Amino acid sequence: MTNCLFCRIAKREIPASIVYEDERVLAFNDINPQAPTHVLVIPKRHVATLSDLTIEDDAMIGELARRAAAIAQERGIAASGFRTVFNTNRDAGQTVFHVHLHLLGGRHLDWPPG
Ligand code: AMP
Ligand code: ZN
Repeated sequence: MTNCLFCRIAKREIPASIVYEDERVLAFNDINPQAPTHVLVIPKRHVATLSDLTIEDDAMIGELARRAAAIAQERGIAASGFRTVFNTNRDAGQTVFHVHLHLLGGRHLDWPPG
């Protein structure tokens, strides 16, 4: 989608601090980090929200989760712990309508979230 921020980052039209890329997945540092590690893992293909997934997206969601875990491992926060979050729509505070998995870690994270 031409006016989607994360599609534009995936197409390198807007700069980002990219930490991983392959044919289907991109990961970059969140511009407003909420923890020492705050990475967004996105599919390159536009899907607006988790509610828009189809069965064809099952493998892609698995890739996002595996990639988040791999980045946590690389950053040395896998054993101490990390959080992965998909925000969906207004009550969850979704602001960018292109599916993204937040990877947060490097500090203690409270539960339940606010
Ligand atoms: P959400 O609230 O789940 O939709 O998360 C959107 C996230 O995207 C927020 O954590 C923002 O800080 C982050 N964000 C917004 N614009 C950019 C950008 N240009 N580069 C990196 N992260 C961004
Ligand atoms: Zn998009």
